[in-house]
Amino acid sequence: MFAKKTMSGNKTFTIIKPDAFEAGYTGPIIQKIEEAGFNLKNMRLIRLDQESAGKFYAIHKEKPFFGRLCDYMCSGPIIVIQLEKENAVEDFRKLIGATNPEDAEEGTIRKLYATSIEANAIHGSDSDENAEIEINFFFS
Ligand code: UDP
Ligand code: MG
Repeated sequence: MFAKKTMSGNKTFTIIKPDAFEAGYTGPIIQKIEEAGFNLKNMRLIRLDQESAGKFYAIHKEKPFFGRLCDYMCSGPIIVIQLEKENAVEDFRKLIGATNPEDAEEGTIRKLYATSIEANAIHGSDSDENAEIEINFFFS
């Protein structure tokens, strides 16, 4: 019944980052997410501390931008959201656009709301495995 193609998951995870929250873009961003067919399964407004930001972005520990990224992610409130949709990870990455808003396609959330490669408005999980890890990180 199921084709050989690997089944993709239906869960992903997002963060409305401090720049977007501060600018008042939470409402419009959530509207775009829902209009794209994602269901909100869990959502919290939180503020990260350095330790949690470092753990969340541990994969980027050796990158030159790591320290600044952690400072930025701790600079104000954020919204963390668990999302559900068929093919969630891939479809959500398409919806948010490229990491650098200058490279993001028209109509994507980063094109519309991001200001720089660092302050790029929104996070999206990059794989089913990481979606699971990130959801458990914030909602366990
Ligand atoms: N980032 C940055 N400088 C860079 C690359 C990334 O400040 O040169 C920040 C940016 O906020 C990005 C996050 O680090 O969203 C994680 O980087 P990643 O390459 O995983 O991009 P994403 O998966 O968020 O598109
Ligand atoms: Mg990433």
